[in-house]
Parts: sequence; C-alpha cells; structure tokens
Amino acid sequence: MMQQIIEEAESVLLHTYNRYQVVFDHGDGVKLYDIDGKEYLDFVSGIGVFALGYGNKAYNDALKNQIDKITHTSNYYYNVPAIEAAKAVKKASGMDRIFFTNSGAEAVEGALKAARKYAYLKDGRTDHEIIAMNHSFHGRTFGALSVTGTPKYREAFEPMIGNIRFADYNDLDSVKALITDKTCAVIMETIQGEGGIYPADEAFIKGVRALCDEHDILLILDEIQCGMGRSGYLFAWQEYGVKPDIMTTAKALGCGVPVGAFLMTEKVGQASLKAGDHGTTYGGNPLAGAAICEVFRQYEEKNLTEHVKEVGTYLYEKLEEVKASCPMIKDHRGKGLMQGLEFDREVAPVINKALENGVVLINAGTKIIRFLPPLVIEKEDVDAMIAVLKEAIKEL
Ligand SMILES: *Cc1c(COP(=O)(O)O)cnc(C)c1O
Repeated sequence: MMQQIIEEAESVLLHTYNRYQVVFDHGDGVKLYDIDGKEYLDFVSGIGVFALGYGNKAYNDALKNQIDKITHTSNYYYNVPAIEAAKAVKKASGMDRIFFTNSGAEAVEGALKAARKYAYLKDGRTDHEIIAMNHSFHGRTFGALSVTGTPKYREAFEPMIGNIRFADYNDLDSVKALITDKTCAVIMETIQGEGGIYPADEAFIKGVRALCDEHDILLILDEIQCGMGRSGYLFAWQEYGVKPDIMTTAKALGCGVPVGAFLMTEKVGQASLKAGDHGTTYGGNPLAGAAICEVFRQYEEKNLTEHVKEVGTYLYEKLEEVKASCPMIKDHRGKGLMQGLEFDREVAPVINKALENGVVLINAGTKIIRFLPPLVIEKEDVDAMIAVLKEAIKEL
C-alpha cells in the first residue's frame, strides 16, 4: 500500500524533493506512525515545527474551537486571536511591532522590505546594500533566496535582487570589510540551521551589533529555525544579551499551522512600512492567531525553555560520547535541541538505516546529521535514539 501511494505522489507532485520512502499518517507525543502502522521516534519535528509533539489535545481543541467560529476575516478588519497572538510574541521577544505572514520566507521578505524602507526614509537613496552570510538559509522566494548564502540554490534563478554582499559567519572582519555608506542591514541566523548548525560566537554577534549601532545599520536576526525555545531560550539571541532591530520567526510559532512573522522595535516600526507598503491575504488570520496563543500558553505551562536546556544538555553529552567513539565524526555543534554531528563522509546511509529502525533523523548538507526533536522530548527518548544511531553508524 505504501509503495502505491508513493508512486501516485511521484506522478502528481512536482519533483522538488528527494523524499524518504515513508508516508506518515498520524502522531502521538514524540512518535510518528506510517500508514502501515509502523512506529517511529521523531527527531526532526517536521524541520523544527512540531515543538509540542503530536496529538496534543489542548492544541487540537484550540484549533477546533476557532474553526467552528471563523478561520479567516481579512487584514482590513481586526480579530481577537491575532491581537492576543501579537501580545504573546511581543511579551516573549521584547520586540514592539509585529506583522504576521504565512511562512518563514515571507517573514524574511517583509524584514528586507522594512529595512530598505527605513533606510530610504532616512536618506532618500534607492541603492542600499544588505550584508548576508555565507552558508545562510533564509528561504526560497526571490528576496529570501537573494540573501541565502548557498550559490547552488541561487544560480539557475539569477538575477537575484541586487546589492547583496556576503560575509563569512563568525568572522567580524569580513562583515566590517563590506560596510559602506549604502549598507542598510545585516541579516543572519542566530544559529545557522540548514547551513550546518553553526551557533554565532558571542564576540561575533556582539561585534555585529556594535558595528550596526555605529553605522545606523539595522540588524535582522532570522530566528525561524533556532527561535521558539529550540536553543533553550525563547529566542536564541536572548542568550547573548544582544537585541535585533528586526527579527523573523516561523516554524514552531504555529506548531503545524502555517504561520510566520517579522517583528521590529518601535523605532523601526515608526519609520519604515506604512499603510499600503505591505500586505497579505491570510497572514494573521484567526486560525493562525489561535494556534500561536495556544502554543505560547503551553510553552509557559510546561516551562518548556527550562526543559529544553535540561534535555538539550543531556543530548549534548550523549552525542559527545558517540563522537568520542567514532573517528568518522569530525565535529559536534549546537545549542539546546538544535544540534548537529558532522561526519567526514555522506550521512545518507545512517539516516536511511535509522528510519528503517524506527528513528526519524535529517541531514543539514550531505555530511551533517541534524537533531531537531520535538521540544517535549524526554531523556529516555534521547537514549532510544542514541541506541539506533550507534547501530546505524555501522552502515558507513
Ligand atoms: C526554514 C527556514 C526559512 C524558510 O521558512 P519557510 O517557512 O520554509 O519559508 C527561513 N529561514 C530559516 C533560518 C529557516 O530555517
């Protein structure tokens, strides 16, 4: 049956992914089940989305209640769930103004537009430059792709939006060298995700913040993957004692409902996007708002960031042990429940074997295994994953 569905899928879907040969049907906590009833322990959470685990009754009920009321109005009117959601994100982040989108890439688009508008209102120029990072990932739409630091993702789609310069992540001098009187923003992930799980060095992120302050350049932090508690802090920058001028979030923000957002300080909010400058049909609809409110309610109820710190530390120790026992592993990086193991060769055989043995893992690039479990994962789940991982490494 599974094979037939996969063949059907390949006959109708545009082939933009090389998918794993599994059809998931439902989930329960940190377990997923395929349509044949086989159980899997999930260490991917749909790429950092399903932070609260599957089959979460209170979350499902919150959505069902909202569905029975209304799911969409339009941004030409107010709705209470979006206002409550905005208040929750503001409280969690300390940012002042929010714009809801439907995805991460759209949040990045909005952030870039806000930065350009801010600079335009300041000096009237239309040739502003943005500094982005090599190995970054910000999404697949043209603006987001233009600041994504993997040339092979961009090449066939050139020309990108203009005036983007790429610096090296964690190399402050390389950022400094690109600053001109036209620079309006620096955009980067607080922890690089797709690029291979690279956390910002403290000196680097503080240095970039200081450079931005010195030159009145906006710092945009992309927290789409590393935010929403994954690093052990609600937003990863909070650990460093820096604050962005503009921030993006998505993935776990709605825990399964497609939603993203970009946020900014009052200073940027007062001097950038105005009525007519930006919009969205769906963004911040009542269903998305209800999801976000319930997500934050449960984060608080479960004291989830503390839990992430504790289980994340445990995962870190266990992966250090795996690294020590395996010379093919070159490096181990990450924070909280966002970690990566870098091998000296391709990791696809390990991921395939783990899947066969009931553990879902994912790569970041071809040589790195990425660990992004639901944030509600427990230590015994880590133990179960590690046992399967050790066995799967023998495939190499
Ligand atoms: C996933 C991701 C995006 C893109 O989000 P989409 O919802 O897929 O558009 C942007 N930035 C980062 C850091 C991401 O991890």
